[in-house]
Amino acid sequence: MRIAIVGAGVGGLATAARLAKAGLEVDLFETGPRVGGKMQVVHNSSGLRWDTGPTLVTLPDEIKDTFDHLSDRGGVPPELVPVREGTHVHFADGSDWALPAPGQSLSRWMENVDSRLARECAEVLKVAADVYAFANDHVLHREPPGLVELGLKTTLGGLALRTPDLARLDYLRFVQSRLTDPRARELFLHFSSYVGILPEHATASLVSIAHVEFGMPVVFPRGGVYEIAAFLRRAAEAHGVRLRTDAKVTSARPVGGSDTRNAGWEVAWTSAGGGPGEGAGEGTSRYEALVVATDPHQALVDWLDSPTLRRHWYGDVVEGRLAPSESQFVVLVERAEESPLAHHVKIFPDSWTRTYRQVVLEKRLPEDPCVYAVWPHATDPSVSPRILFLSAMAPSLDSGHSWDQTQCEAYTRHIRELAERRLGRALPGRVVGTVSPMDLYRGTGALRGGLYGAAPTRFRQVAFARASSFSRVPRLYFVGGGVHPGPGVPMVLKGARRVATRMVSEFLTGGR
Ligand SMILES: Cc1cc2nc3c(=O)[nH]c(=O)nc-3n(C[C@H](O)[C@H](O)[C@H](O)COP(=O)(O)OP(=O)(O)OC[C@H]3O[C@@H](n4cnc5c(N)ncnc54)[C@H](O)[C@@H]3O)c2cc1C
Repeated sequence: MRIAIVGAGVGGLATAARLAKAGLEVDLFETGPRVGGKMQVVHNSSGLRWDTGPTLVTLPDEIKDTFDHLSDRGGVPPELVPVREGTHVHFADGSDWALPAPGQSLSRWMENVDSRLARECAEVLKVAADVYAFANDHVLHREPPGLVELGLKTTLGGLALRTPDLARLDYLRFVQSRLTDPRARELFLHFSSYVGILPEHATASLVSIAHVEFGMPVVFPRGGVYEIAAFLRRAAEAHGVRLRTDAKVTSARPVGGSDTRNAGWEVAWTSAGGGPGEGAGEGTSRYEALVVATDPHQALVDWLDSPTLRRHWYGDVVEGRLAPSESQFVVLVERAEESPLAHHVKIFPDSWTRTYRQVVLEKRLPEDPCVYAVWPHATDPSVSPRILFLSAMAPSLDSGHSWDQTQCEAYTRHIRELAERRLGRALPGRVVGTVSPMDLYRGTGALRGGLYGAAPTRFRQVAFARASSFSRVPRLYFVGGGVHPGPGVPMVLKGARRVATRMVSEFLTGGR
């Protein structure tokens, strides 16, 4: 049984390794020279290294599950170092909150600010924990439920009775109705940027992210987040996956007619000769199954030839009705000197909500963006203290910005000045690189440079209501942040496990 997987981000790598471990023959195609997709790393000449994508990982049990399953051949996985310090949040009015470590009581900490805030926060976090438990039981590990099924389950499980406003309110109104402190509102609302959509376009259930971020452990893989991709690559290759880097899939078309038993895919690619023993050139092969581990919507535009799926998505993508999520602009700084920060610092604009609307709706480069500063040395002393990662809100490519050198330099200057002003301290250092929405588009095929793929706001979807991993087309599967259960490394790994389990059951154990 031969399977083609397109895309060697964490989703494609984890699926490939799991399928190969189960005994299936897997070819993994990656258009870039390195694996990892959005999880990337940059080295400079003095050996310093910067993660350019994820800088922290939530839900460590999900990561451990993948590590445990694959470490028989993948070698020692990276240690997951707990982040012991909470996020440091700086507000535009000059105040700042050094939040407690993930897993410690945020509402108790809020008593330092105001007892009413602490009470309100405790109630919101209770709902967040309740929604997360429900999602974990009924949504994240299964097919995205339909509205009727969701309604039934929330009613029978008591969630709808305990929190009736979850179904009635969007996330913006939910937060506004439950939190009176403007800073707490902004802090909770900014979670909608984790799925790249406006809070008024998300359902109130998005509050579950607050539980994952504040109420559960958060970790940093020792040495850097890219160690996850490096481990997955080792595991995949050790289990026999044939990895072809620098190999761009240019078309995949269904073959074998309507008989499911003979159904398969003809996959064509061009290769720059990246794999071991691979020369540059072109190739075509037939596979029994195809796993799309790239942005699913961009795949339909670029190379996935499926008339069935085109009927459903293609027009929406090409005609722009399917909006991409928000993007980010990343700046990598080599500090001249060490001046400690928290692992994660969030520098809020005057109004997070207003700025986010400018970015998502008006597609403007904001004058007052929300800036994240990440100093991984705070958690992992093996990472040089001279490494600083800054990132700021940026519109997807529909904005028309070219992200040429002049624009990248200007936005870099702007972000640094803003961060320095709000933090009240200089951040001296040399810029060693930037990652713009254009780089994300060119480097990973992200739909119009959006960070999290499509954000189909017309249907008010949130992460766990994305397209299914199991298509209606025979022997075609989807993995990754663009499909259920959504973006972020743990969700992508959850999806990979589910798809691999289903495929092994279909192909090796006859569906039992
Ligand atoms: C700046 C930034 C910060 C982030 N922060 C966090 C964080 O802190 N925590 C977290 O959990 N997540 C974070 N994320 C999100 C996380 O990185 C992604 O959700 C996850 O890595 C997506 O993995 P994936 O496998 O779905 O897709 P991708 O990583 O997008 O991989 C898709 C791969 O497919 C390849 N490809 C595309 N087209 C073709 C083709 N035609 N032929 C062959 N190969 C092709 C691409 O080159 C790419 O390697 C962040 C992302 C970014 C960019």
